[in-house]
Amino acid sequence: MTRIHDVIIVGAGPAGTATAARLHQHGVRDVVVLERYAFPRDKPCGGGLTGHCDEALAALDLVLDVPRVPSATARVRLGGFERTVTMGRPVNVIRRIDFDASLVAQIRARGVEVRVDSPVAGLAVEADAVTVRLDDGRALRGRVVIGADGAASVVRKHLHGDARPLPHRLFMQELPAALADSAMVYDFTPMQDGLRGYLWVFPVADGRANVGLMHYPSSRKGGPELLRLLRAHLGAHGVELPARGARGWPVWGYDPRAPVAAPRLLTVGDAAGIDGLTGEGIAVAMEQAQVAGDLAARGLATGELGFAGYRRALRRATVGRELALDRWLARLLYQRGPGWQRWMSLVLFDPDVLEMYAARVAGSEVLADQKLRLWSALVRHAGLAWSRRRRLREALAAVPALPPGPAADQSVAPSTASS
Ligand SMILES: Cc1cc2nc3c(=O)[nH]c(=O)nc-3n(C[C@H](O)[C@H](O)[C@H](O)COP(=O)(O)OP(=O)(O)OC[C@H]3O[C@@H](n4cnc5c(N)ncnc54)[C@H](O)[C@@H]3O)c2cc1C
Repeated sequence: MTRIHDVIIVGAGPAGTATAARLHQHGVRDVVVLERYAFPRDKPCGGGLTGHCDEALAALDLVLDVPRVPSATARVRLGGFERTVTMGRPVNVIRRIDFDASLVAQIRARGVEVRVDSPVAGLAVEADAVTVRLDDGRALRGRVVIGADGAASVVRKHLHGDARPLPHRLFMQELPAALADSAMVYDFTPMQDGLRGYLWVFPVADGRANVGLMHYPSSRKGGPELLRLLRAHLGAHGVELPARGARGWPVWGYDPRAPVAAPRLLTVGDAAGIDGLTGEGIAVAMEQAQVAGDLAARGLATGELGFAGYRRALRRATVGRELALDRWLARLLYQRGPGWQRWMSLVLFDPDVLEMYAARVAGSEVLADQKLRLWSALVRHAGLAWSRRRRLREALAAVPALPPGPAADQSVAPSTASS
């Protein structure tokens, strides 16, 4: 008879290691983490430890002990317009190959078992446990299984069935670059060429830059078209994308109504959904891990393993409130037609909105608690929208639109995991 573990966590990225750390804090010791790859392993990512990552690490007794570039300013750009905002405290830009290996080492040092080279192929929920099947045919059983297995999560697939909404698409590359300073650059100029999202240039240790772009799925864009936009618009930042292009990754945005749990099953991190506005997910994963770890530990103690309240608990936590607000903002800002200009002009030209968002990115404020300030900005905008849109068009006129590309608006295969 196969032994039944208290908890099996699938995936040892930030979500999986943070959940293991939380369970350990609760005294849950019979935990096995199953990871597809061996560490150090890389993961396409901008590496910006934004939001409430500092607090999340501290709450989990984890430390940031890898090389990082602290960035205290963000430069936001659209065509000829540029504004620099100071963040309440620096955002740390790390490399995932270092960061994830460090988190794994930290939980292993606590005695948590992490089994690498152990890809999970599928799972079956039974009355007394969940059976987790590995690629090589072996099986493990757990009273609870937590899916922290990223965007291509097998646990997410189990919960969502055949439902496959269009994913966000993110591309990144790390390159040598002589950046002027350590500011994080967010450039929305490619929106005039059909991108619904932004291009980033983040400083990385050793005189390098992490560059990339995020596309929100209000319109379908194929990999070649997104790479064309990335390549063309990086020129304005003095960065040349090499011939090999950039690594792409589809991820699903957080939807407060989507399934995140079932009896004996929970999901965290990208498996539950990323921030729809920014594509950010590391701090999100570590905050959600605390909610999931608390609920799992309580469930193991009480025998209540239905987890019917998890979706609501996530939604009500600070992280869930921020994700819900960002989901709403993303739908306005990244809408398919020209209406995006109305909302982008509010973000760029209102004296308060960018400051609020910078404080949210830095983790010094919870944007969802700033409803009064947000409403005041909306009221101001009602009177100024026309002149602000004219200003926005003038900013865009400074950078002529690119000619349409041959591969523009291709359909996207949602399961494509690389460029
Ligand atoms: C290009 C790009 C740029 C980004 N930039 C940022 C940024 O600057 N800041 C930020 O906060 N977020 C960023 N994100 C998002 C961030 O990378 C993710 O939100 C974060 O990695 C989520 O952590 P996770 O642990 O949920 O998933 P992952 O980091 O994907 O970890 C999942 C783990 O599960 C393992 N796994 C998967 N399937 C299986 C299986 N079947 N069996 C066993 N193991 C499995 C994987 O190998 C992996 O180790 C970016 C994402 C992309 C694609």
